[in-house]
Amino acid sequence: MKVDYLIVGQGLAGTILSYRLLKQEKKVLVIDQPQMESSSVVAAGLFNPITGNRMVKTWLADELFSELVDFYRELETFLGCRFFYQKPIYRPFVNMAEQNEWMGKSADPGIKKFIRKIHRNSVYGDFVEDAYGGLELNYCGYVDIATLLREYRTYLKQQQIISEETFEGEKLVFDTHLVRYRHIEARRVIFCEGPLSNVDRFFSWLPFRRVKGELLIIEPKEPVPVILNRGLFILPLENGHCKVGSTYDWKDMTWEVTEKAGIELRKKLHVFFKKYYKVIDQVAGIRPATLDRRPLIGAHPEFNKLMIFNGFGTKGVSLMPYFSAKFCNFLSNDKELPEEVNINRYFSLY
Ligand SMILES: Cc1cc2nc3c(=O)[nH]c(=O)nc-3n(C[C@H](O)[C@H](O)[C@H](O)COP(=O)(O)OP(=O)(O)OC[C@H]3O[C@@H](n4cnc5c(N)ncnc54)[C@H](O)[C@@H]3O)c2cc1C
Repeated sequence: MKVDYLIVGQGLAGTILSYRLLKQEKKVLVIDQPQMESSSVVAAGLFNPITGNRMVKTWLADELFSELVDFYRELETFLGCRFFYQKPIYRPFVNMAEQNEWMGKSADPGIKKFIRKIHRNSVYGDFVEDAYGGLELNYCGYVDIATLLREYRTYLKQQQIISEETFEGEKLVFDTHLVRYRHIEARRVIFCEGPLSNVDRFFSWLPFRRVKGELLIIEPKEPVPVILNRGLFILPLENGHCKVGSTYDWKDMTWEVTEKAGIELRKKLHVFFKKYYKVIDQVAGIRPATLDRRPLIGAHPEFNKLMIFNGFGTKGVSLMPYFSAKFCNFLSNDKELPEEVNINRYFSLY
């Protein structure tokens, strides 16, 4: 079997990248082992232009957020299903000074478009403490990643362009113009293995800084009308449940849920959320984050037919549509990759 691109991994990265390549009429084969862990299946799927404790505009916000809406809507139409939800995020103010600070910031043209409204009085006081009002953000929402991956896999199966197996890097054979993997001949192999990229030797030298995260799934007594965020987020889903998260752990690299994270989330939720709720599940995953908090994209220093599209850390949903387009341009038109994401910044580590 001859293909242009053999893609390893059908998490969010392999899904978005292979979709873009198929749209360019490239011949693609995806290899993914459904029994292996996937960060995407666990993720909350949030996208949000103003983030962090300091609430600053996220990297590339102006480029990412308007484009992202068109991208996911198009993918929904292509697959004939719904997984993209635009919903405002509400962050209650803790005091008057914070309200004033945001009144000032809202005049900044660079931030203005991401602010839907500054509430000076309580709006969601039945759900959270917001005596000083709160900040309502625009260009936010979530992707139901599990649904997207499932529907896209069905499409790949219909097209007979996915093989559900474990990829074994040591079986690659390099020829001058192509790479062989068993009966497959590919012009290029692209690794989209997420946090499991350390398993084979080709890209394990890259400075990942993986972060474990855990979420609770709760069933609140009343539907939550908006995404709430202050120290932790409460994300209302279509089925009435909410995802609540998340934790950050740089030491424990297992995929199991822990009592420690469960207690931490319950404690925060107890302080933040006023409604009665039932905890119905807890999930854990590993984020493929990197030392410099930038993605890892590009060609291997020695085997130039091997590529990587990885390292999207906590922001896969917002970064992947943008960087998959850049990467396709690099692959098809030899356009330079942005320096900040090109893995050649780490070639000295190889
Ligand atoms: C708790 C938590 C919350 C998160 N919340 C958000 C959020 O709100 N918003 C956001 O944008 N991001 C969030 N993330 C991060 C997000 O999950 C990642 O950025 C993204 O999903 C990474 O996708 P990926 O395709 O690179 O990796 P993965 O989703 O892990 O996919 C890798 C795929 O490769 C396959 N694979 C690997 N090795 C092999 C092999 N040898 N053979 C065959 N198949 C293989 C795996 O089976 C898997 O399907 C969160 C992560 C966690 C853990």
